Amino acid sequence: MSFEAVIGLEIHAQLLTRSKIFCGCPTTFGAAPNTAVCPVCLGLPGALPVLNRRAVEFGVSAAMALECTVHETSIFARKNYFYPDLPKGYQISQFDRPFATGGRLSFAREAGGDVDVRITRVHLEEDAGKSLHHGFPDSDRATYLDFNRAGVPLIEIVTEPDLRSASDAAECFARIREIVVALGVNDGNMEEGSLRCDANVSVRPAGSPTLGTKTEVKNVNSFRFLAQALEFEIARQRALLESGGRVRQETRLWDTTRAETIAMRSKEEAHDYRYFPEPDLPPLVIAAAWRDEIRAALPELPAARVRRFVEAYGLSDYDANVIGRLLPGGAGYFEAVVAAGAPGKVASNWIQGEVRRMLKAAGEDDVGRAGITAEHLAGLIAIVEGGTVSTSVAKTVFEKMWGTGRTAADIVQADGLSQIDDRDALSAIVEQVTGAHPAEIEQIRAGRNNVFGFLVGQVMKATGGKANPKLAAELLRQKINGG
Ligand SMILES: [Zn+2]
Repeated sequence: MSFEAVIGLEIHAQLLTRSKIFCGCPTTFGAAPNTAVCPVCLGLPGALPVLNRRAVEFGVSAAMALECTVHETSIFARKNYFYPDLPKGYQISQFDRPFATGGRLSFAREAGGDVDVRITRVHLEEDAGKSLHHGFPDSDRATYLDFNRAGVPLIEIVTEPDLRSASDAAECFARIREIVVALGVNDGNMEEGSLRCDANVSVRPAGSPTLGTKTEVKNVNSFRFLAQALEFEIARQRALLESGGRVRQETRLWDTTRAETIAMRSKEEAHDYRYFPEPDLPPLVIAAAWRDEIRAALPELPAARVRRFVEAYGLSDYDANVIGRLLPGGAGYFEAVVAAGAPGKVASNWIQGEVRRMLKAAGEDDVGRAGITAEHLAGLIAIVEGGTVSTSVAKTVFEKMWGTGRTAADIVQADGLSQIDDRDALSAIVEQVTGAHPAEIEQIRAGRNNVFGFLVGQVMKATGGKANPKLAAELLRQKINGG
C-alpha cells in the first residue's frame, strides 16, 4: 500500500517593533536578563495592557502579503495555562476571531512543479518569557527565568494541511520567511528564535479522504532540520501503520544529535486553555482607511519581483529567480546596471558569472558589496556590446576595474586593449600564423574543418585576445581558400 504525508505548519514570527505589544518595554534581543520588564509584561496586579499600533501594522502587512482577508473587527483572548515563564498565568492571543483568515501562498518548487498552500489564519499574540536550564553553576538543580521576551509581539501564521512532502514543507517555511523578511516585519533569525516553526504531520493511505492521527514536531530552527524531522516522522508513522500499529497523538522534538524525533508530551487529552475575551482590551478595529494605508505601503515581494524581471527584462525564469530572489543584493544591483543602460540578459550573465566569481574569491556573497559600481559595469558592458573589446579581453578589464574605481574605457585606453578590427593589421598576423602552420592548412584543405578553430585560436593568442574573432576567421578562410 502506498502512503501519503499530510503536513500543516504553524509559524511564530516576532515582529520587529521597538517596544513590546502591550507595554513600552524595549524588545532588544540579548539584553541582561530581566532588565526589559515592567508591571504590564510581568503581569503585576492592576497593570493594564495598551496595544502597540505598529505591531498591528506589521501583522496586517504580513497577512496581506499572504493574501488573507483582514477583518475590520477582531478580538483578543486570554489563553490560560500555567508555565513558569508565563508570569500572568495566561497569554494574550486571538482565538475564534483572529484579525486575518483565508489566505494563500503559491510557489514553484526548486525541483519543478507548483505548490499551493491555503493560509488558515494569522493572529497577533504576545511571546512568553524564557526558561534558562543551562549555563549556571547550579543548573543541575535550578531553572532561571528571563522575562525580557514576555510581551514581545508575535504573529502566528497557520497553514491548512496542504503540504504533501517534507521538502515542500521546508520550502513553504522558507518562502514565508522570505516574505516576512522582505516586508521588514521579522528578522528571519531562526537561531535566536525570532522565527519558529512547528509542523503537524500525519500519514494516510494515498487517496484516502480521512486524515490520520497527527503528531506535532516542535523546536526546529532551520529549513534543513525541518525537512529532516519531517522525513523521519513520515517514515516512523508509515512503519507504525504498516506493522499494524497506531500513531499516538503527541508532541515530538527533533533531536539534532540523534537525528530523530523524540516524544515530548502526549496530546491525547486535549488542552483546555479556557479561552475567553480579554477584558482589559477593546476589540481591535482595523478600519478600511487604515487597511488601505498599510496596503499602499507594502514593498514589492520577492515573487512579484521575479515575475517583473521576466516580463520587463526578458530574463528566463531561472535567471530571474537567481537575480531577483536568491542572490543577496542581486536585485538592486541588477536594476542599477540595467538603469545605466545595459541589456537585462547581459547584465544578469555578468552578475551571475564574473561578479559572483570575484565576490566568492573575496569570501563575500552579497552583490551589494561588489568591487565595481553598477554604472561602471554597465560601461564595460557597453564597450563589449559596441565591439570595442572581445568578451575574453573584457574579463581582464573587469578584473582590473574591481576594487580600483577605474572605468572600462580608461583601462582599455591605457592598456591598449581595443579590439583589432583593422583588416591590414589583422591580415599581417594571419599571414604569420598560416606561415607557421603549413601542415594544419593542408589538413583543412583535405576537409578536416575542426583544425580551423585551432588556427583562429592562434590568431587570438598572437594578438593577446584582442583580434576581432569574426574578422580573424574571415581572413583565415580567405587565406586558406585563396592561396
Ligand atoms: Zn513591559
